[in-house]
Amino acid sequence: VAASRNAMSAALDQVRKELGRTYPIVIDNKPQPVGAVLARENPSRKSEVLGKVAMATAEQANRAVASCLAAFDGWRDTPLAERTGLLRRLAEQFRKRRFELSAWIVLETGKPWRESDADVAEAIDFCEYYAIEMEKLGAPQARDVPGEDNRYFYEPRGVAVVIAPWNFPLAILAGMATAALVAGNTVVLKPAEQSGIIGAKLMECLQAAGAPPGVVNFLPGDGDVIGPPLVQHPDVALIAFTGSLKVALLINEQASKTPGGQNFVKKVIAEMGGKNAVIVDSDADLDEAVKGVVDSAFGYGGQKCSAGSRAIVLDGIYDQFLNRLVEATKSLAVKAADDPGCSLGPVIDAEARDRILKFIEAGKRESRLAHQTDLGALAEQGYFVPPTIFADVPETAGVAQEEIFGPVLSVIRAKDLDDALRIANGTKYALTGGCYSRSPSHLEKVKRKFRVGNLYINRKCTGALVDRQPFGGFKLSGIGSKAGGPDYLLQFVLPRTITENQMRRG
Ligand code: NAD
Repeated sequence: VAASRNAMSAALDQVRKELGRTYPIVIDNKPQPVGAVLARENPSRKSEVLGKVAMATAEQANRAVASCLAAFDGWRDTPLAERTGLLRRLAEQFRKRRFELSAWIVLETGKPWRESDADVAEAIDFCEYYAIEMEKLGAPQARDVPGEDNRYFYEPRGVAVVIAPWNFPLAILAGMATAALVAGNTVVLKPAEQSGIIGAKLMECLQAAGAPPGVVNFLPGDGDVIGPPLVQHPDVALIAFTGSLKVALLINEQASKTPGGQNFVKKVIAEMGGKNAVIVDSDADLDEAVKGVVDSAFGYGGQKCSAGSRAIVLDGIYDQFLNRLVEATKSLAVKAADDPGCSLGPVIDAEARDRILKFIEAGKRESRLAHQTDLGALAEQGYFVPPTIFADVPETAGVAQEEIFGPVLSVIRAKDLDDALRIANGTKYALTGGCYSRSPSHLEKVKRKFRVGNLYINRKCTGALVDRQPFGGFKLSGIGSKAGGPDYLLQFVLPRTITENQMRRG
């Protein structure tokens, strides 16, 4: 621990020497002249300016797509071993720069050290896993009968636009991009505005790993400005999106039309948010349940799609659980994310802070405030929001239905397990869920009836390791594409069949 603490603080010092740089758009592996920029600041210490990131125009979006289209034939015909080689070399880049990349994540997104490091580790896993999975998919399958040859195989789709959120700023951007690339697509890489520097670091790593010109183009910018021209572009075959429900719905709508209003069919992979619940049964191990619920609700300040933001607690154990939950939440160390003792940092920016504070105000009207941590001077220093627990929350209240994406936990009372399951399933989302219970028959019922993409039993309801826990939800949480799972790459390819009659001789 001490060694990695030293390495991490050395990396933060090193990275701080680089503050103030401007990160350009990159098309055809060439930095583009910089026009408008977005200044990036450290959410833990808002006076610290980290750098500036270029903001693309609609015209540059079209150029990025044209460059990807021009590079597509060459990349699609590149041997699979070279495409998987790119991912493996990218993983090496991440390994070499692991502490430096983690330090940037800490500074740009306010993610505590341990979780920032986990973000880089996940990006490495995605590269290596998708390389292996593509090797399995790559070989054509023969289904021959006498006189007739049949080949079934996968081809890349074409130009892919990868649009990512800021909360897993390296892992999700790199995960979607490497899946698209290894399958033979060329990629327009669109990071979130709030994590543009980390996006630029990924582009540096891709170039160092040998991505050929035009195979990946780096296009940071305002989603409202460059989103529509990218999404509606008739030369774009595939959109891989992870982010909010609101933007996913917009993309789905816009992807079905060209800018001229013609109908169009385009592959859209969309993974969105959640309003995830953890059920605490009356015989649950309370030590485990309290720790798990706190981690799941307040890890990275609740800014995870997988955050367990509802605790549904059975009547018999409700008061005891709530008391212990409040005590455990009081012990969270709310600090700047670059402080090694931080267990809960700031939220991403002023807009997020204000949105979450509005939810908290509404929550006070809708239910009972059971706990709110005092922030002291931190409230002025950065974009901090006090960890907040609401108790006796009606299941239909806004704080029990909407994804808040902040450190706000709603505790809901349930009469019995059936009631708890009904409440747990009663939102528009179906991403993650958890249950703490010692009763085998109750757990069997939970496994059958709690309908979410990732269910966690007697363990923290959040986190997914590549290959071990393929991740993604359904209903309005996503299309179930399951990142880090064996089916994920199938979304990025076109299955084709060629049937050939053998020629008669003579
Ligand atoms: P967001 O939807 O605001 O932004 C995501 C991306 O979409 C950004 O790159 C943004 O610039 C872009 N965008 C915005 N408007 C656009 C438009 N009109 N057209 C095209 N692109 C546009 O989401 P966010 O705040 O960055 O991320 C938080 C959300 O992501 C939460 O809802 C969270 O639950 C979700 N999320 C889901 C998963 C998952 O795997 N299911 C993982 C992480 C985050």
